[in-house]
Amino acid sequence: MTDFSMTIDGKAVAGASRFGVINPATGDVFAEAPDASRAQLDDAMASARAALRPWQRDVEQRRKALRSCAEAIKAKASELAPILVREQGKPIKDAMGEVFGAAVWFEVTAGLEIPVEVVSDTPENRIEVRRRPLGVVAAITPWNYPLLLAVWKIAPALLAGNTVVIKPSPFTPLTTLAVGAVLRDVLPAGVLNVIAGGDSLGAWMTSHPVPRKISFTGSIETGKKVAASAAPDLKRLTLELGGNDAAIVLDDVKVDALAEKLFWGAFQNCGQVCSAIKRVYVPEKLEAPLVERLAALARSVKVGDGFEEGVQMGPLNNRPQFERVSELVEEAKQRGARIAAGGAPLGRKGYFYSPTIVTGVTEGVRLVDEEQFGPALPVLTYRKLDDAVERANRTNFGLSGSVWSESPERAAEVASRLECGTAWVNQHLAIVPFAPFGGAKWSGIGVENGSWGLLGFTEIQTVNVAKKPAGS
Ligand code: NAD
Repeated sequence: MTDFSMTIDGKAVAGASRFGVINPATGDVFAEAPDASRAQLDDAMASARAALRPWQRDVEQRRKALRSCAEAIKAKASELAPILVREQGKPIKDAMGEVFGAAVWFEVTAGLEIPVEVVSDTPENRIEVRRRPLGVVAAITPWNYPLLLAVWKIAPALLAGNTVVIKPSPFTPLTTLAVGAVLRDVLPAGVLNVIAGGDSLGAWMTSHPVPRKISFTGSIETGKKVAASAAPDLKRLTLELGGNDAAIVLDDVKVDALAEKLFWGAFQNCGQVCSAIKRVYVPEKLEAPLVERLAALARSVKVGDGFEEGVQMGPLNNRPQFERVSELVEEAKQRGARIAAGGAPLGRKGYFYSPTIVTGVTEGVRLVDEEQFGPALPVLTYRKLDDAVERANRTNFGLSGSVWSESPERAAEVASRLECGTAWVNQHLAIVPFAPFGGAKWSGIGVENGSWGLLGFTEIQTVNVAKKPAGS
C-alpha cells in the first residue's frame, strides 16, 4: 500500500508540498508525505462542515458505518501494519495489535448509546436532557500509537454526529493517511478528512474558525498552547497529555513473580506510552532483588528492527526523543545514579537505546521528575508507605499509576489515594474501550473511551416541554 495522499471531501489529494518520513530503525527517509497548505486545510474544514447535516440524520446509519470501518481496517491489516513498523519502529506483532485494536475500538464504540435522560415527567411538564453533536472536530495525534489514538477520536466523534478533520504527527503520518484512503469508500465524502503537515498545521487547525471541538493527544507543553488557541472562540477541548506514572510496590510482594509485569508496564512500545510506568517506588529491603530482576530482564530483551525475527522492542521513534532519553540518563549518571542495566545507545544505525534500569536516584533528578517517554526506568526506595504516596503525588502529572501487593484490597486502598486519572492494582496499561481514560492535573482535560469519552463529543441540550398547547 503506497497511497499516502490526503483525504479531503472523499477524494485523494496531493500535498501542496511534501516532507520526508524517517524509518527510526535506520535513521533514513523511506517515504514522503503530503504537506497541507492553509488553502487545503480550509478545503478540509469546508468539506467537513458541508457533510455535517446529512451525517447527523441517522444514528443507526452511523453505527453501521463504524462497523464497516472496523471491517475495512481488518481487511487491510496486513498492509497497514508494515507501514506502522516503518514509520513508528514498533515490532510487527505490536503493529498488528495496534491495527486490530483500532478495529476493536470502532466496533465497541459503534455499540455505545447516546443517552436521553428524563429528569422530570409530570402531567404538566417533561424535561429531557439530550446530547447534541458539536459540529466539526479537529483531531491532532502524536507518534507513539498513531493509528489507535486516531481511532479513539474518530470513532466516538463520528458516532455522536460530528465530522472530523484529523492531522497525525509529522513523524508518523503514513498509517493515518493510509487509513483515510481505506475509509474513502466506507464513509460519505467529507465525514472524515485526513490531512498531514508539521506542527504549524496543528496550530492552524486549533485557531481555525470552523471546528467547534479540538481533540488533542500529545505533550503537556503543546496541550497548553492548544488550550490557549482554542480559548478566543471557546472551542470545546479534550486534552490527553503526558504522564509520569508511579508504580508503588508494597512490602509483601513476591519480587520474582512481579518483575516481568512491572518491566513491560514500563518498556512496552520502547517506553513510549503516555501511561507507561515512569518511576518505581519500592521498599528499601526489596530494592536489591527487584533491581536485579528488572536488570536481568532489560539485558534479555531482544531490541532491533521491528521486522527482525523475535524482536521485542524497537528503536525510539525520532532523533529528538532519542537525544532526550540519552540526555536524561546522562544527567542521572552525573547526579550519582547507578546504572543496573543499559545506560547508553545501542551503537547501531537508527535510534536504538538499550533498555535501562537506574537506581540511586530520587526526586530532583530530571529522569525522575520529567516524562522520559523512553526505555529508561528509575527505581526509587521508600521507608514509609505514606511517604511513597506523597512523593508519587508531588507532581503536576496525573495520568495514571499503579500499586502492587499480594493483597489486592490493601493495594486498592493505596491506589485510591493516587492523584491520577487511572489507578491500577497489580497491573499497568490495562486500557479498555469501554472505560474512561484521561488525566488529572496537567495530564489532561476530559477523558476518552466508553460512554464518557463519547459524551465529550456532544453538548447538553435540555428540552423542557410544557404539555399544554401553546394557546391554552
Ligand atoms: P507533541 O505535543 O509534540 O505533538 C503532538 C501533535 O501535536 C503532533 O501532531 C504535532 O504536530 C502537533 N502540534 C505540535 N505543536 C502544535 C501546536 N502548537 N498546535 C497544535 N498542534 C501542534 O507530542 P508528541 O511528541 O507527538 O507525543 C508525545 C507526547 O504525547 C508525550 O508527552 C505523551 O505522554 C503524550 N501522549 C499522551 C497520551 C494520552 O492519552 N494522555 C497518549 C499518547 C501520547
